[in-house]
Amino acid sequence: MSKITKLEVLHVRPRFSFLLLHTDEGLVGLGEAALEGRDKVVESAIHELEYLLIGQDSRRIEYLWLLMYRATFYPAGSVIGSAISAIDQALWDLQGKRLGVPVHELLGGTVRDRARVYKHVNTRDDVPADPGIHAEDLNEFLGLARAAVAEGYTMIKTALPGPARFVESRRFIDREVERFALLRDAIGPDVDFGIDFHGRVSSALAIQLIQAIEPLHPLFVEEPVTPEDVDAMAHLARRTNVPIAAGERLFTRWGFQRLLEQRAVSIVQPDLSHCGGISEGRKIAAMSETYGVGFAPHNPLGPVNLAASLHLSFTIENFVAQEQITLGDGLITRPFELVDGYVAAPEGPGLGVELDRDAIEPLLYDGGWKLPYWFDAHDSGVAKW
Ligand SMILES: [Mg+2]
Repeated sequence: MSKITKLEVLHVRPRFSFLLLHTDEGLVGLGEAALEGRDKVVESAIHELEYLLIGQDSRRIEYLWLLMYRATFYPAGSVIGSAISAIDQALWDLQGKRLGVPVHELLGGTVRDRARVYKHVNTRDDVPADPGIHAEDLNEFLGLARAAVAEGYTMIKTALPGPARFVESRRFIDREVERFALLRDAIGPDVDFGIDFHGRVSSALAIQLIQAIEPLHPLFVEEPVTPEDVDAMAHLARRTNVPIAAGERLFTRWGFQRLLEQRAVSIVQPDLSHCGGISEGRKIAAMSETYGVGFAPHNPLGPVNLAASLHLSFTIENFVAQEQITLGDGLITRPFELVDGYVAAPEGPGLGVELDRDAIEPLLYDGGWKLPYWFDAHDSGVAKW
């Protein structure tokens, strides 16, 4: 027996949130308790679930997952899904710590020696930028891309900048093609790039854009349309040879079911801090494998979610690449190390990461960070993210 005694959430500037799950053995399990811009809601949801968890045996991970999922009656969406995810990650961390083995060993052991990771490179003129990720202008954007290649990345991801109208001018499409062509020139033919549309454009414009950028051979286009419109995604997928990726805003295996059945994507991107944790990510990975679909975990969060994602990714056949915005510098005691665009499997018991308490102590805050939001530049209407 390893009784759960306390659940504690730490919010760390600029926008990270971690769950510490305490047990009566004195072990503490770590999870990432985030929902971009809504971390305090996830913290509240975690405390809502305490009545199901306090006093329970932390070794019964699947049982506790089912208990949390079924007891809430409504299907786990973004908030409950993120709360369950953080708790699930912490339970796997605890299990590994108790047994003295990495989580990937509990999942069957590694099937590869290293995992490809990629970095964001974006331009964003109208929101406070994340240094090193968002450039002020085109030249800085291309400079960030070259810098990522110099760091060793073999793959980067960029996004459509800002909102677009429902249908757009020839000039708009030409400008985007030109930007991605300059990016291709800057990184050279041996480095890959994916493009995230963020579900930001209409399906009509999405297909025009994708067909225009096909010759540049992006590795994938992500969320060409909003994820709830599976039929539109499937329609798009049939009209381009660019692989379509999606899944960061889908939750649990049931959230991915239609996407796979409709053969709407080539790559799924569940976020292990939102989709239901390591336990659920593993099931989504296996479902995807049966459809010949790759698995590339979403993670614009912190190093605990990175570790959770990597432990799973090292144990599945259909892993493609791992998203990250930090390898953990200033947040965990032993940051991940990038070698030729790849990282090694996390070692050490559990998730193999520990928060650097001295470093994060001055960064603790109330968790109230918010996502930026958008308006149409032409008529000031509220725009899609
Ligand atoms: Mg995305």
